[in-house]
Order: sequence, then structure tokens, then C-alpha cells
Amino acid sequence: MSGLNLPISLEFFPPKTPEGADKLRGVRQALYGLKPEFCSVTYGAGGSTQEGTFATVGAILSEGVAAASHFSCIGATKASVRAELATLKAMGVKRLVALRGDLPSGYGAGGEFHYASDLVSFIRAETGDDFHIEVAAYPEIHPQAKSPNTDLQAFATKVQAGANSAITQYFYNSDAYFRFVDDAYKLGVDVPVVPGIMPITSSSQLLRFSDACGAEIPRWIRLRLQAYGDDTASIKAFGLEVVGDLCEQLINGGVPAIHFYTMNQSAATLAVLQRLGLTGEHRP
Ligand code: FAD
Repeated sequence: MSGLNLPISLEFFPPKTPEGADKLRGVRQALYGLKPEFCSVTYGAGGSTQEGTFATVGAILSEGVAAASHFSCIGATKASVRAELATLKAMGVKRLVALRGDLPSGYGAGGEFHYASDLVSFIRAETGDDFHIEVAAYPEIHPQAKSPNTDLQAFATKVQAGANSAITQYFYNSDAYFRFVDDAYKLGVDVPVVPGIMPITSSSQLLRFSDACGAEIPRWIRLRLQAYGDDTASIKAFGLEVVGDLCEQLINGGVPAIHFYTMNQSAATLAVLQRLGLTGEHRP
């Protein structure tokens, strides 16, 4: 297998309690041996986790690791985005994951940004090249897209607005990823599209998440997971095999990097990378 020095990045969400923050500190330490290129921290739509996101980003930076702040714009104003960009710049953040985000149902969208492409253009206009900007990509099509083609075009527009690279929604079908990348390149997208990988540790959580975000769980995986019931050891062993094989196909297909949705846990991400022999010693 190639790719021993393939860049790895890790995603966390902001903890809600001091105990959660302590636990996440331990998780990060367990994962830093992988020498991640950067660690990113999610951001609740409407700024609902802004304090926790920025605090976690600050903690990662203080541990000597590059940090990316996710940044969603739905419901935001130009003035609020400008102020948050200034805060992140002052903290020493150099990388953003620029998103539209989703508001909880019942909230009117409002705000001065409609799509992530509006945010990317605004960040570029306001801050030049101060930030490396990542955007989201959907190999299995965003759930609200009018059609596969408009979604692909929307992705290309986001990149043309000034994104440096993209991270995909998670998927378990590598063909969807490779087709998406080919189609995007045909539209002139020339930035790395990094696959986002969700380790499988729990059946109910995965099925719930996937229904909400439009990620497809192939029928054979769904049925096998359901058949394991509460047998978490079997779910984890099966999940490791499925995700390990997926990563192997992606690496063999020449992906530029891999991004892990860690779900603030270290064991599953470490197990996948150990299975692939990508434990960090070959990365600079
Ligand atoms: P957009 O790129 O704006 O696309 C949203 C929808 O609008 C798509 O259906 C697209 O086809 C359509 N569209 C875009 N432009 C146009 C146009 N010009 N005309 C017509 N239609 C258009 N959510 C969070 O709340 N916080 C996070 O931290 C977070 N992190 C994420 C990280 C990654 C890597 C990914 C893949 C997703 C993340 N999300 C996060 C989820 C994301 O916010 C949702 O999927 C959201 O619904 C779309 O955000 P977006 O930036 O992809 O939107």
C-alpha cells in the first residue's frame, strides 16, 4: 500500500461541560501521535457554539497543533462575520472550514449570507490570503440540492469563490467519491478534495446521523449493523473492517489526504490508522 506519509486531519466538536473538555484534552493527546496536519472544530449554526468552538480551537493551538475553525454563516450578518474573523485572526488561526450551516427547524434563516459561496467570497474580500479556506463537498449529493448537477455546480462556485481545498461529507461507497472528484475536475475544480471518514462505533448513532445529513449507508452495512443488536464488540470489529477497506480503496485511488470525524473519541480513529499502518511515524 502507498501513502505512508499521507496527511491526516482530525475533527472534533466543542465539549459542553468542563468534564467534556478534560476528556477531549485526553483524546487529543492520544491522537497527536498521528501528527495531524490540522485539527478542526465544528461550529453550531447561528453561532450557537461560538464560545466553545473558539475555546477548543485556542486549546489546540496552545498545544502546538494547527487548528481550523469551522465557520457557518446562516443567520449571520457581515458585521458579525467580520468581528469573528478578527477574533480568529488575533488568536493565530490560519485555517477555516467555511459553511452555510443549518438552522434548527422553526428558525427563520434571515442574515446576509445565503450560501457558503457567499461566505467564501466575503472572507477573501475582507481578509485576502490570511486564511486557508476549506469548504464542504457532498459525493452523495447534499440533501437539499435541487439536482445532482446544481449541487456539483454549487460546489464549483464555492471553490471559484476562493476555497483552497474541500472536505467531503462521510460516505461508505468509494465510487461516489471518485465520480464526484472526476465530475468536479471536469467543471474546472482544481483543489484537493479530501475524503471525510466516519469510523463506525455505534449502529443507532450512525443511522440517525446519516438520515439527517444525507449520507448513504449501503443496505448490506445497515442490515449487518442492525443484526448485531447491542453487541458493540461485533459492531466495532465490523466497522473497523468496513472503514479500513474503504480507506484502503481511497488511498490506492490516490486521495490527497484523509479527514477523520473523530466524534471526540480516539480509539476508533487510531484502530483504523493502525490497521492501515499509518500511525504517524512517516509523517513530518
Ligand atoms: P452550501 O455549499 O451553501 O450548499 C447548501 C445547499 O445549497 C446545497 O443543497 C447546494 O446545492 C445549494 N446551493 C449552494 N449554492 C447555490 C446556489 N447558488 N443556487 C442554488 N442552490 C445552491 N454544519 C454545522 O452547522 N457546523 C459545522 O461545523 C459543520 N461542519 C461540516 C464539515 C463538513 C466537512 C461537512 C461536509 C459538513 C459540515 N456541516 C456543518 C454541515 C453543513 O453545514 C450542512 O451540510 C449544510 O446544510 C450545508 O452547508 P454547506 O456549506 O455545504 O452549504
